[in-house]
This record gives sequence, C-alpha cells and structure tokens, in this order.
Amino acid sequence: MMNVPFYSLDYVNRALGDALRESFSDVLDSKWFIRGSRCRAFEEAFADYCGVKACVGVGNGLDALTLMLKASIILGSLNVGDEVIVPANTFVATVLAVRAAGLVPVLVEPNRDTCVLDVSRLAEACSEKTRAILAVHLYGRLADMPAICEFAKSHNLLVFEDAAQAHGAFLDGKRISSNAAAYSFYPTKNLGAMGDGGAVVTDDLELAQVVKSLGNYGSTEKYVNKYEGVNSRLDEVQAAILLAKLSRLDEWNRRRQEIAARYCAEIKNPNVRLTPIPANPWSHVWHVFPVFCERRDELQKFLKERGIETLIHYPIPPHRQEAFAGAIERGEFRHGKLPIAEELARTELSIPMGPAMTDEQVSYVIESLNAYAR
Ligand SMILES: *Cc1c(COP(=O)(O)O)cnc(C)c1O
Repeated sequence: MMNVPFYSLDYVNRALGDALRESFSDVLDSKWFIRGSRCRAFEEAFADYCGVKACVGVGNGLDALTLMLKASIILGSLNVGDEVIVPANTFVATVLAVRAAGLVPVLVEPNRDTCVLDVSRLAEACSEKTRAILAVHLYGRLADMPAICEFAKSHNLLVFEDAAQAHGAFLDGKRISSNAAAYSFYPTKNLGAMGDGGAVVTDDLELAQVVKSLGNYGSTEKYVNKYEGVNSRLDEVQAAILLAKLSRLDEWNRRRQEIAARYCAEIKNPNVRLTPIPANPWSHVWHVFPVFCERRDELQKFLKERGIETLIHYPIPPHRQEAFAGAIERGEFRHGKLPIAEELARTELSIPMGPAMTDEQVSYVIESLNAYAR
C-alpha cells in the first residue's frame, strides 16, 4: 500500500526553495503591500506569457470573471439582460459571475468525451438575445476555440474564456483567442498563489483599464470614482509568489502531460471511461485528470482503501444548485434538459495529478484502477 495524495502543494513550494521566502522578504522590506511594483511586474510577465497586451491582477478568479463581464457592459459591448452561453457542467463560479454582471446564463451541454462546450449545440442554443459565449477550459483542456470563435463571428457574439484551470495551455501558438480571459490563482491551480488571486488578460486595452478601475472602487484616479466598483486587487505578496512560480509553469505542465499520457495508455478497465488526449498535447494542461465510472462512489471508496485520494469535480451541476433554484423558476436562466451534464456530475472522479507525483505513484494509481473489478 502506498499513499498517493490528490495533489501535493508542498512539493511545488519546496521545488522553489528559497525563491518563495525571498519573495516574502522582498515585499516585507519594500513596505508596500497593495498596487505596487510586484503586481505590475507580474501583470507584465503574465501578459507576456499569454501573448496579450494587458493583464490586470484582481482578488480572485470569480472577480476576474465578473469584472471582465461588467467592464464589457460599461463599454457597451454587452447590455444587462443579454444572454451568455456557458457550459452546463462548469464550476459554479462561472455561472455566479454571469449572474453577478446582470446577464442571463444559457446552459449548454458539453461534449461527453472532452467535457468542454459542444460546438455543434451552439446554433440551437442561440436566441436573438444571445450576445456572448463564455467558454470554460474545464480540467485544463482548451475548449474548441477556433470553432467557437468562428461561430461567434458569424453570429456576432463576443467570446470570453474562463481559463481558471488552464494556465499555460495553448493552441496554434495562442493562449488566448477571445475578447478576454479570466484566470484564478487559487493555491491548487496549475499556477497558484499562497492565498487568493486572479487576473483578466486581454488585447483590449480599454477593457483592461475598466477592469482595473472596477477592482479599485471604480476609481480612475485617487478619490475620483467613475464607476461603482469593488475592492478586488492582487496584493504584492501574491504577485511576488506568482512571479517566482511562473518560470516553472511550463515544466510542471509538461510533467502533468507525461502523467496523463501514461494514464491514458495504461488504464484499461471497461468500467472506467477516460477523456482522450487532444491531437495537440499542449492544448491540455491536465489541471484535473477525470475518470468516469457508473459506480463512482464505490470506486472512490476502493481507491481510498488503497491509500489513493480522489475528489469529485463536480458532484452537483449549477442548474441543480439550490442557490439558483429561485432564479431558474423566475426564468432568469435558459436551458433545456441536460442529461450529459448530469451524467458527468454523477460519474466523475478526479484521480491524483500534479508535478509532485513520482513514477511509482503513477504506476500504483494505474494498477489500482485496473484492479477495480465492478
Ligand atoms: C477556480 C475556478 C474559478 C474561481 O476561481 P477563484 O479564484 O476560486 O474565485 C472559476 N472558474 C473555474 C472553472 C475554476 O476552476
């Protein structure tokens, strides 16, 4: 028996050695904790890394999503009450952001194999009120952005990305292919801070400017408030930590891809369904490695007994959450039946994944999944 944690943050932190401590003490010595040089340095580095003109650090991923949409409303490219297409199997924050911005979520079924938006369902999902698509790169797999952008272009829609699980993923050399993308730096994300953090990245400098001032009480200069904003900023400690970690992101993602390749090649159990490796391996950074099993809870228990920690992403899809029950009843959502999203919620199990895993641990997880007999 071997202990395999779901994800070891400790390893990632230890791998950085003194760099993290130095980041802390630099900030301590600078005596400047909010909106300083580290935040600007990280914003510049991450914009560069993403190949876009601007990055705005904010307090967390949910705020990144919300402020990106609110800024689009302020700039007139969206209006309150417009419909935004989102995948029905996303993390709740995607839908919370759409609602918080005063927009109407249109929940669309994912592709059952890849778990990202099913482009073939976009046409039937659109109404005359639909103004945007918010694609989610769930589990670290880029949604089919070329097809989504082409569809959006022909239907005059904006495209946004919830990239909270896909730091570093790219396709055709591009990490961002939409109007703007929102990132989360929650500690366990592929690029994680030591607290909360988030960012909006975009080529639209006007949008970046509005996001930035919305996150700072809506002020454009001190004590001059142009918008009704919030307080949502990336603090100096988090920015310094992220700057130290960014240089290792590709290497850690590469290790995730290696592990995923072994899982996909060696897990052979008719009761356990996997998602395929995409044709372009860098379009998936495997934030999570999901498997699907009809007797999911039993499989989870079986693995736990063998020392393997697993999680479920996510057991309840947004349209089944109590939080939205009233809004759905009032017609503030639009969706049809969602059997695929519900099946995924009922059968998904995330197995250990991350740069900390040893080859022995990977082998042990594979063996254990192959040993599951139901
Ligand atoms: C983590 C996550 C968020 C929210 O990020 P926070 O920083 O926790 O607010 C949003 N969307 C997705 C898909 C996520 O995985």
